[in-house]
Amino acid sequence: MIVETLGIIAVCVTLTWGAHSMGFRQGAAQRTKDAMGVPTGNRSSIAIGLRTLMHAANDHARRAGFRDKDKSFGDEVALILTEAAEAFEAHRHGNPQSEHIPDFSGVEEEFADIIIRVAETAEHHNFDLPAAVLAKMKYNTTRPRMHGGKLL
Ligand SMILES: [Mg+2]
Repeated sequence: MIVETLGIIAVCVTLTWGAHSMGFRQGAAQRTKDAMGVPTGNRSSIAIGLRTLMHAANDHARRAGFRDKDKSFGDEVALILTEAAEAFEAHRHGNPQSEHIPDFSGVEEEFADIIIRVAETAEHHNFDLPAAVLAKMKYNTTRPRMHGGKLL
């Protein structure tokens, strides 16, 4: 019990430190929301969460050796696409329990892989993914229903 409690405290301290080390604090900007009610700006919970994920995913990739050799951007995009293919394969087989993270389904695991790979790649290239996500979500609120007549 003590070990679990210390583990939870360590995770909370790490996440809090990560957000503060990147200059994010709760403030007036946190309360600014767009038409969908999504907090906007670099201090939004979406931006803070994405920046924390990008940093953590890239840090793990480097420690695990996945950044020891250069990859082409095409390789990086292909690796993201393979995770999407794995999600489809899991669905195709009835979405069984994940072998690696048994509390989750195969589709959940592969969706997580997609997000982790995108976040890691964005961090590696110093892309401002959090701002891009917020900008795109805001733009989407201005588009017509079904974005102008798309079928899917
Ligand atoms: Mg996978």
